[in-house]
Amino acid sequence: MDWKNALSEIITHPNSRLRFKEPLAKHTYFGIGGEATAYIEISTIAELSALARFHRQWDIPIAIIGRGSNLLVSDTGFNGISVRLIGELAKSEVDGNTVSVGAGLSLPRLSKTMSRQGLSGVEFALGIPGSVGGALIMNAGAWGSSFGDVITNVTVMDDTGELVNLSHAEAAFEYRHSGLDTYFCVTGATLELESGDAETITARMQAFYKQKVETQPFAEENAGCMFKNPPGDSAGRLIDISGLKGYRIGGAEVSTVHGNFILNIDNATATDVLNLVTHIQQQVREKTGISLQTEVKRLGFDAKVE
Ligand SMILES: Cc1cc2nc3c(=O)[nH]c(=O)nc-3n(C[C@H](O)[C@H](O)[C@H](O)COP(=O)(O)OP(=O)(O)OC[C@H]3O[C@@H](n4cnc5c(N)ncnc54)[C@H](O)[C@@H]3O)c2cc1C
Repeated sequence: MDWKNALSEIITHPNSRLRFKEPLAKHTYFGIGGEATAYIEISTIAELSALARFHRQWDIPIAIIGRGSNLLVSDTGFNGISVRLIGELAKSEVDGNTVSVGAGLSLPRLSKTMSRQGLSGVEFALGIPGSVGGALIMNAGAWGSSFGDVITNVTVMDDTGELVNLSHAEAAFEYRHSGLDTYFCVTGATLELESGDAETITARMQAFYKQKVETQPFAEENAGCMFKNPPGDSAGRLIDISGLKGYRIGGAEVSTVHGNFILNIDNATATDVLNLVTHIQQQVREKTGISLQTEVKRLGFDAKVE
């Protein structure tokens, strides 16, 4: 049996999907990137566990992706299997102030559902278009809050297909980084939220969102902040004072609204984006002496997500 047939045998649930030669551009907010050899929407733990064992047996590269809102996929695509979590892997369950969430759940949906139920702690997340899994990997955050702040436990799957429960400390959350990317897959987390008045929480969530829409680009395709903020400073400010707002290479342009966003304004390629990233890093280093590090993850430039 070849690996494609072996893979087809794993994907058995009626809601799960397996497709070959899937264009990844349509699964990323950048709208950029070539094809993945295979793409799976996987809806059960049992299938995911079988996939982990498949991975060990066949050694085909696998990349778990969320909503693709922090991802740049190469123009030549990903020579491997890209996987998105749906169904039972994207659910939430509330028990008092404790909330269990699947990694496939969308962050804006989580934010809205919790505010409606009078639970506070994830109001900042309405304007972050990622999944819970992506937010755990990135320790996504805004307005002084980070996703890791409300997490008590994280569940991951190891490469034998076993689920492992990690404490907050073991998840090793840092600024836009966690220690979770060493596992095969992040499957979910437990959040501890605070009870409050649903209307007040909803108003705070909406105020954060409004502020975000007013200060960051939302109309054009992008992947959020391209660079991490250096300690004590803002990458957007450094890009701005380096005179780079509106600078364009091919179809990729530095946003005129917020310098830390690179926009796909006209069929940009991943090469356009990376050339622009290099230009920004050179110019900012020359003008300010600071080296900017990228926040956006890359897929398909090497065998796995970098
Ligand atoms: C308009 C816009 C605004 C944004 N604003 C913010 C913001 O305010 N703050 C902020 O922090 N970010 C922001 N972002 C970036 C992005 O939304 C976050 O980083 C988000 O957490 C990424 O989640 P995702 O599901 O899209 O992950 P993806 O982009 O799909 O993946 C990101 C990384 O996580 C890995 N990954 C995803 N899911 C899993 C999983 N289940 N198991 C293992 N690995 C996984 C991927 O392999 C990849 O390495 C913004 C992006 C956009 C487009």
